[in-house]
Amino acid sequence: MKKNILSIHAHPDDAEILAGGTLAQLAAAGHNITIVTMTPGDCGTAEYSPEEIARIRRAEAARSAARIGAAYRCAEFRDLSIYNDDASRRRVVEILRQTAPDLVLTASPVDYMCDHETTSQLVRDACFGAPAPNYLTGAANAAAPLTAIPHVYFMDAIGGVDRDGRAIEPDFFVNVTAQMEIKTAMLAEHASQRAWLLKHHGIDDYLVNMQTWTRANGHRAGVEYAEGFRRYRGHPYPQTELLEELVGAGVVRLSLGS
Ligand SMILES: [Zn+2]
Repeated sequence: MKKNILSIHAHPDDAEILAGGTLAQLAAAGHNITIVTMTPGDCGTAEYSPEEIARIRRAEAARSAARIGAAYRCAEFRDLSIYNDDASRRRVVEILRQTAPDLVLTASPVDYMCDHETTSQLVRDACFGAPAPNYLTGAANAAAPLTAIPHVYFMDAIGGVDRDGRAIEPDFFVNVTAQMEIKTAMLAEHASQRAWLLKHHGIDDYLVNMQTWTRANGHRAGVEYAEGFRRYRGHPYPQTELLEELVGAGVVRLSLGS
């Protein structure tokens, strides 16, 4: 049974870094994938105007998504300007209704910067509102309410730690060793970011940092490369293990005390 899967994170490249291997695996299994970024990454530059870098980064994100046959769209918020307010929640609900996901992968509720944390809250709350018929988005040709709240999973925080540097433990890992080539190719499509970090840091660490982090997760999971996920446990969100079922043999669970 093919599922609609929505990845919705703050900026172009977050999904690739944190869940690119898992999304590639789900796409290869035939599921419909949509990758949404809340912003077009309009502050991710020191040389282009906001409009110029937004245009560049939307195109990069679309090319990355296309590598796994996924659709891409931008929710058109702006960097450092994502707020969990009424208008923003209705905008995210409309995206949920248009994509009708069974499964939503989103940002960690605790992360290193505000856009990630607010995205997590907005998506969580929009999933609650999306099935409610009386919750109107005000969009032209508004899509129908969802038939149910989708399954919600959080990706890892960047670096796997909270704001105090403490590790955030995932519920389980997905072994993405076989997807590292495509995950790296997806991230490499974000050429503007690679160039920016190269200019700033003097070393080409954009892809290497992602690989190092994914390998460190793999080490914790006992495989070469892995990505971690947590299921949102709030009432009345679905609590069956949909992501684990779809990934199947790729799931690695750590037993307590290991
Ligand atoms: Zn980000």
